[in-house]
Amino acid sequence: MVIAFFFVLGIIVGSFLNVCITRIPEEISIVSPVSRCPRCSTPIKPYDNVPVLGWLWLRGKCRACRLPISPMYPLIELATGLLFVAAFLEFGITQATVKWLFFTCLLEILTVTDLRVRLLPDVVNWPGFAAGLLFSAVVPPNNGYADALAGRFLQVRLPGVAAGILDGILGAAFGSFLLWGLAAGYKAVRGHEGMGMGDVKMIAMIGAFLGLRGTFLTLLVGSLLGSLIGIGLVLALYLGGWRSGVAKRASRRGLGTERQLRWAIARQYQLPLGTFLGIGALAIVYGGPVIAEQWPIFKGIVG
Ligand SMILES: [Zn+2]
Repeated sequence: MVIAFFFVLGIIVGSFLNVCITRIPEEISIVSPVSRCPRCSTPIKPYDNVPVLGWLWLRGKCRACRLPISPMYPLIELATGLLFVAAFLEFGITQATVKWLFFTCLLEILTVTDLRVRLLPDVVNWPGFAAGLLFSAVVPPNNGYADALAGRFLQVRLPGVAAGILDGILGAAFGSFLLWGLAAGYKAVRGHEGMGMGDVKMIAMIGAFLGLRGTFLTLLVGSLLGSLIGIGLVLALYLGGWRSGVAKRASRRGLGTERQLRWAIARQYQLPLGTFLGIGALAIVYGGPVIAEQWPIFKGIVG
């Protein structure tokens, strides 16, 4: 019963996240107009707006003009439903569950928005950062580096609330200085920007929720998973014939064989960094407690 409740709550929240993902980059209000078809502007009927099922019984097409509706919508609803269930199974009905579900929603919006339009909007990053610090006051991010540091250098014990907030600030500062340094280094060496400030702000938001060690592990796991998924995606694009028209035309002009050109084009595809960071942070939150039993370094980061 409770699992079903979390799942249904998750797919409903997921359908709101879809609204955020499509409207925030366009700077449209996420509350006022009802959802409309992007081509014929017909408002979507309440009974067609049911999470996951609506898309299925419309067979992925607008009822009025038959324009295909992206499978992104039901996939995000489904993923959110499953993540809500996972949060319940790992953290029960606790304050920690509320914190990690809120974090999950922010990560989903940023991950998908960066993937779709290469943007990490400030209206998500900054309120997310503030929310992260507030949540960390109630549910501290890790075993408490802030308290340990204060004890060592100032000979004081911090009250729990202050220690939690300071842990969040430590995580945010560590992650954003590291990425900012990397960005500056890249620009100095290559002469152009390789990373935007959006990534620096996003890791600060992640740090506010996860603290120092969680942020470090997010960067580690995120770049590892990101590279693996990136390689898989390039292969999938190549095998799926991505932009084969362009390769065909270039091949006719004698620039190489079609196969070589398709490979060269697919290899150009890069996952945005924000997507890596989002996947990494989700892996820490949901994978952390599971693998903490094997590797003690994960112990106490979440939950
Ligand atoms: Zn339509």
